[in-house]
Amino acid sequence: MGQMARSWDVIVVGAGPGGSTAAFDLAQAGADVLLLDRAGFPRDKPCGGGVLVSVLKLLPYSLEPVTEQTITTFRVRYKRSWEFEHRYHEPLAIMTQRSRLDQYMVEQAIGVGAEFRDGSAVRDLDENTITLSNGDVHEAPVIVAADGANGIVRRALGLPKLRGAVALEGNASRLDQRAGERWSDAVGLELGSMPGGYGWVFPKDDHCNVGLGGFPAAAPRLRQELSLYANVESFDAAGLTALRGHHLPLRDPNSALVCGRVAFVGDAAGLVDPLSGEGIGNAIRSAQLAAGAALEYLAGTSRDLTAYQRSIETEIEPDLRVARQLQALFHQCPWPYVQLLRRSDRFWTAFCRIVRGESSYTSFQARLGPAKILVDAAAGFAERRGRTAAAWQTTS
Ligand SMILES: Cc1cc2nc3c(=O)[nH]c(=O)nc-3n(C[C@H](O)[C@H](O)[C@H](O)COP(=O)(O)OP(=O)(O)OC[C@H]3O[C@@H](n4cnc5c(N)ncnc54)[C@H](O)[C@@H]3O)c2cc1C
Repeated sequence: MGQMARSWDVIVVGAGPGGSTAAFDLAQAGADVLLLDRAGFPRDKPCGGGVLVSVLKLLPYSLEPVTEQTITTFRVRYKRSWEFEHRYHEPLAIMTQRSRLDQYMVEQAIGVGAEFRDGSAVRDLDENTITLSNGDVHEAPVIVAADGANGIVRRALGLPKLRGAVALEGNASRLDQRAGERWSDAVGLELGSMPGGYGWVFPKDDHCNVGLGGFPAAAPRLRQELSLYANVESFDAAGLTALRGHHLPLRDPNSALVCGRVAFVGDAAGLVDPLSGEGIGNAIRSAQLAAGAALEYLAGTSRDLTAYQRSIETEIEPDLRVARQLQALFHQCPWPYVQLLRRSDRFWTAFCRIVRGESSYTSFQARLGPAKILVDAAAGFAERRGRTAAAWQTTS
């Protein structure tokens, strides 16, 4: 016998940065919102926990209560050998831990009226009815799928699995004084060793998160590469704790982000930046756009959620397109670009302005002037090679 479904204006599946942002915007506008997550909160998630200043600017509240470090310096290492560092006169990013960030963002959504239920795994979805693994049934005219890289909603609707990059990370827990000082306001990047990705050191209050990612074909090598990188950075590779691998879903251009009255946001939509692997920003921005389209639909001012797809195509996809090109170019031959970053103040400043949200990949590309044609051609060549390379043959 079927169970009575509880009705809501919107059900949001998944309470990462995407889901809690959608719930925040919807509830603040007066919608009756159910935010679900299968995990008990606070929960951790494989993630470096780096939040760019451009992302902080998207949020209507401050992340200061969960900020552990403020970053002004990038220390870049090439192929695990020589390194250089650049300092900027303003903050570039903050470092947090996902267990703290996600709990805090959920609290903001609850604070404006969203109903949050953790430990509530969605088992199935049929049109606008959601069944939880405990058998409870909920329904809503709009569903926001914010259930991450391996989400149930995509599967339930029969949508193709997203391809993606792979990453592995761990924590170097006890920092001696030297390491504490070295990483107090700096992040480390390792370029040139990982095809399709890079390594990182992201400092927290009492430990550093050390990780690396790359093309799926690199998956079998991740463990060994992480040990080598950790050792080069003077961490005890054997002592890395909480080792976790995960994949970063990357959108195929033109793929659907709306299916009936379901809108996909963040990792569930594959909106990770392919060049940087940064995904919190687009999770938040896409959730805001989805919430806007959902409110219009609920108010009867639009017939469906297609406005959300259009807003992604105009606001986020152009940057993703350039990021794909830059990623393809960079990984064809990283050395000249690392040298450019090392030696050119203009290039470093352009990078910082993008990270701070004062510029974007698309405006950077536009500033290349006529050279853009050459860059487009080279990137097209590199992308075509990348697509046929073994790199993308295995999806995780
Ligand atoms: C190793 C690694 C390092 C990274 N480092 C960074 C970084 O430093 N900075 C950055 O910006 N990005 C980083 N990213 C990317 C970033 O983690 C993601 O892009 C971001 O978490 C996406 O947010 P989201 O809200 O879309 O999904 P998620 O944060 O993945 O949240 C999805 C939520 O859905 C829930 N869920 C899943 N299935 C169900 C279900 N059936 N029922 C109910 N709930 C469900 C999950 O429990 C989860 O809480 C990293 C990724 C990896 C893998």
